[in-house]
Amino acid sequence: MVPKLDADDAEHSAGSAIEQRRAQILERFKKLVILETPTSDAEAIDALVVILAERYVELGGKVRLISVEGGSHLVADFAGAGQLASEPPVLLVGHSDTVWPRGTLDEMPWRVDEGTVTGPGNFDMKSGLVIIETVLDVLRETSGDYRPVRVAIACDEEIGSPTFEATFRDALAGVGCVLGFESPHPDGALKTGRYGSTRFELHVDGRAAHAALDPGEGVSAIDELVDQLIAVRAIVDEANASEAEPLVLLNVGAIDGGARANVVPDHAHALIGLRFATPEAEAQVLGRLERLEPVRPRAVLRPQVASRRPAWAAGDATQLLLGRVQAIAAGLGVEITGRVARGAADTNLAGALGIPTLDGFGPTGGGAHARSENSDVESLYERIALLCAFLRAPN
Ligand SMILES: [Zn+2]
Repeated sequence: MVPKLDADDAEHSAGSAIEQRRAQILERFKKLVILETPTSDAEAIDALVVILAERYVELGGKVRLISVEGGSHLVADFAGAGQLASEPPVLLVGHSDTVWPRGTLDEMPWRVDEGTVTGPGNFDMKSGLVIIETVLDVLRETSGDYRPVRVAIACDEEIGSPTFEATFRDALAGVGCVLGFESPHPDGALKTGRYGSTRFELHVDGRAAHAALDPGEGVSAIDELVDQLIAVRAIVDEANASEAEPLVLLNVGAIDGGARANVVPDHAHALIGLRFATPEAEAQVLGRLERLEPVRPRAVLRPQVASRRPAWAAGDATQLLLGRVQAIAAGLGVEITGRVARGAADTNLAGALGIPTLDGFGPTGGGAHARSENSDVESLYERIALLCAFLRAPN
């Protein structure tokens, strides 16, 4: 019989297993980066998803692919071991797509220079995918108990995950907590909450007429839209009125309508971006936007929420989880902090549902969505060690 190792031994053996895999981890990271995966390019995305799925099956995972218009989402379940095998699974969330079009590698090749990786999508978030599969490998190959793991990988995160919600809601069922592998804050801090993000469209229908011969017949959709945008700004200002830091951010990102100087315009439209620090501010503002009334009796307003990631406010469940991660990290000699992020991601939904959730488990680095995109290699190994220790930690 193989003697059972105590927790310290298990940690030690995970540490040396990661050391031994350093070259292999970078090789795999390179393989994932040089497979370019622009959002909506189903062929390119699926080439990567198949490679991930094959590896997960090798690692003992039960894998499901969910085919959608822009590729496939992936959900995989991995059993735990020993006394932790009956714990609820830890859900690890990532995405396979990047913002970079095919051919970006020609000007922005994979490179490792003085401990820094560059190449399209390395930071956001092929690095996270490497962390996830390395941890699953190390847990199997070293001794000690560990928790069950579920992995959910979206294929359209960079355009707001329009087809992922149903798959993600299924994947959230019964999990103990959620860890997201998006990039951390620039100083490496984890994300303990995220602003909600809503794209709101306002269509206005007026009535066309000759601007000089028949102005009374017309209803200007543009004049109506201008008045409505002023009303929208007032609603947001009111929600922010008594706050030192704004709870709601407003950006009228696009407007259009009308065609000619001598025709009263019969249509106008605005695309509005809103960010919400709290679910309360979100409910208050969105409720009022849906009930906007026309200033001109004959104008018609058609308000519509085009997409919405709900506000994930840092709550007690997430603070407890952060405390746990901090204690485990301290055991590895690593200091971890956490704070709220303004950007939205898939973890918004998990956090908004009250599930203990942390994001930012990717390595430190910078330049997400920019040509300077880079990941720090040492921090990649550190995150692997942290996730191993987390999944092995007893209750
Ligand atoms: Zn990302």
